Amino acid sequence: MEGLTELLFPNTCVICEDLLIQHEKGICSICRFNLPYSSWNFTDENPVVKALWGRCAITAGFHLLSYRKGSFASSLVHAIKYQNQQQLAIAMGEQMGEKLMRTETYKTLDCVVSVPMHPKKKKTRGYNQAELIASGISRVIDKPFYADFLLQTRNTQTQTLRDRLARQENAGDKYQWNVNFSSESINHILLVDDVMTTGSTLEAAEFAIRKQFKPEKVCVSIATLAYVF
Ligand SMILES: [Zn+2]
Repeated sequence: MEGLTELLFPNTCVICEDLLIQHEKGICSICRFNLPYSSWNFTDENPVVKALWGRCAITAGFHLLSYRKGSFASSLVHAIKYQNQQQLAIAMGEQMGEKLMRTETYKTLDCVVSVPMHPKKKKTRGYNQAELIASGISRVIDKPFYADFLLQTRNTQTQTLRDRLARQENAGDKYQWNVNFSSESINHILLVDDVMTTGSTLEAAEFAIRKQFKPEKVCVSIATLAYVF
């Protein structure tokens, strides 16, 4: 039966479409090796951190891949978002976890949380890729992942289409901290998303955490699979 499934739905690389061998998930080893990896580490003054300067209070941040239109990174992100590549999303999260562990700062993290997706959208897609990436990170760095830490309150249209001012006005109540989580034992949160473009989504999510936790009480750091240049 397994052979028949493979014949009907051959397991191919999302980038080069070559047949995958057994341990490869979604992407072949050659394409994985050739992905446009960022050379910045978690605690560097990297593009993620710089883009959010003056907008939110983050402790550290990083991106795994540098996303440019038509690049391997864009094919990979597209597959994760729209081609049901859930295992690939988790595997990329694991790679992000390995990168986090290059600096000691990850040891201070208490938990991993993801930017939420509106329940309607999640139902249509069947999964939230940011959650899968976050769960991969969590597994590698051995810190708990809380899927429902943040909740989406409004189903807003794609925010990148709006101007900056409107986004800021709009960001205030897009997400909400889930009151079922106790703030007692949390000092450092890793906030995860799949792609960072303008940063407005992460800014809104950080804002929701900040409404609950004062900066002197809780640090927020950010990890994103891809950063769009
Ligand atoms: Zn390939």
